[in-house]
Amino acid sequence: MSAPQTAALRSPRRWTSRLAVVTLHSYSGNTLRLYYEPQPMAPTMTDELNVDVTSLFEALPGLRRHRCDNGRHRSFFDEARHTEVAHLLEHVLIELLATSGCPRCQIQGATNLDEAPRRYRIKVSGWVNVAQAEDCIEKALLLLGSQEL
Ligand SMILES: [Zn+2]
Repeated sequence: MSAPQTAALRSPRRWTSRLAVVTLHSYSGNTLRLYYEPQPMAPTMTDELNVDVTSLFEALPGLRRHRCDNGRHRSFFDEARHTEVAHLLEHVLIELLATSGCPRCQIQGATNLDEAPRRYRIKVSGWVNVAQAEDCIEKALLLLGSQEL
């Protein structure tokens, strides 16, 4: 088994789409931290967004295996229909990392509202390297309909 790679970002990476500005602001050990800042007029909840959850789950069937501490014992499929877009991005990112070779059992994530208004913190831990993480972030944004990377 390989040891997790450790790398520091030389400068924060940032992606701007019609939905949000996503900043990869730190990557250390096996944990990456993102900020998700919705654009001023962009929806923050998935039921306000034109994302076809069924198609998303067909594109990434592993999402059906995701579990989430939502306190309501809902499946992630049900959760994905009405949750924060940042939260859905976290799960899509986790799934993309899993399908690109990170051991699924080692990947964990959390999304929380930040102190700053309309900003979310996304933390994903698992065996990743910077290039793989950046590639998966770009793919996740594309899958959520942000075609303007
Ligand atoms: Zn979750």
